[in-house]
Amino acid sequence: MSAHSAAKIIAIEEHYLDVEIGKHFDGPEVRVPPLRQRLEDLGTLRIKEMDEAGIDVQVLSQSAPGTHRLDAATAVPLARGANDRLYTAVQANPSRFAAFATLPAIDPKAAAHELERTVTKFGFKGAMVHGLTQIDGARLFIDDKRFWPIFERAQALDVPIYVHPAMPHPAVVDAYYKDYVKDFPSLVNAAWGFTVETATQGIRLVLSGLFDVYPNLKIILGHLGEGLPFSLWRIDHALSRPGGKSVAFRETFREHFYITTSGNFSTAALLCSAMELGVDRLLFSVDYPFVENKPGPRWMEQVPLSTEDKAKIMHGNAKRLLKMG
Ligand code: MN
Repeated sequence: MSAHSAAKIIAIEEHYLDVEIGKHFDGPEVRVPPLRQRLEDLGTLRIKEMDEAGIDVQVLSQSAPGTHRLDAATAVPLARGANDRLYTAVQANPSRFAAFATLPAIDPKAAAHELERTVTKFGFKGAMVHGLTQIDGARLFIDDKRFWPIFERAQALDVPIYVHPAMPHPAVVDAYYKDYVKDFPSLVNAAWGFTVETATQGIRLVLSGLFDVYPNLKIILGHLGEGLPFSLWRIDHALSRPGGKSVAFRETFREHFYITTSGNFSTAALLCSAMELGVDRLLFSVDYPFVENKPGPRWMEQVPLSTEDKAKIMHGNAKRLLKMG
């Protein structure tokens, strides 16, 4: 019996901020209290707010952008230290917490090594990557071949990689959002910018041929798939028009991707996701502390799915995918 076998509600995109990584945050990612207080808390306050919502387990992950915009000399030891500290926090409350690793993606070989170290030594459930990674001045999507050692190791360890948003490319912000940012600051992130960027990450992963090379690789997307379930038919149909390379887009997406309810408690979007992917690929998440815990389980209670299907979403799929049973 694992520490989590009896859990009825497992939430898997729940963020914290490592105290040392937090020192490198600036610009739009500086969080102000009370958000910062909740991000830095891995004890009393967090567990109190889990209890109030009936959440048994949080799978903890670093808040975006993690170490993705730091140089390798900084990111590699910083990620290692952060994972060591995270392991200590999980060990303090092993029945309430599990963890995804923070990876120094800027150094993909070191990142693959860190993934293996944290999975084999600490029992971490996989890793989360955040948005674009800056290498040699370029901001790269995660499908770039330079990052494939991370996916190779994830497949070998049989753990998923959670592809999470971060701020869009500055050129995109400038061209697409700038004139509305002052009045609607969330437009560039959770309201729309995150969705466009992370959906693009997902699409690019399929087009890159990554899953031909790593046929057992598993990817997780939050926010009910960043809109992709809704668009899956159209993407697949348009990509199969004459003139392009052949790609089984919809089939590949449905085979390799899992999606979570983080920050998107929409019954319509959930049912669309269930119809496209099946309930075995849907996992409950809140996106704490950016979203409050309580409305999540309350929403799921009145979703028109069977008790069995809801049990899969609330805990069964997480136990299987993350080996928490
Ligand atoms: Mn999140």
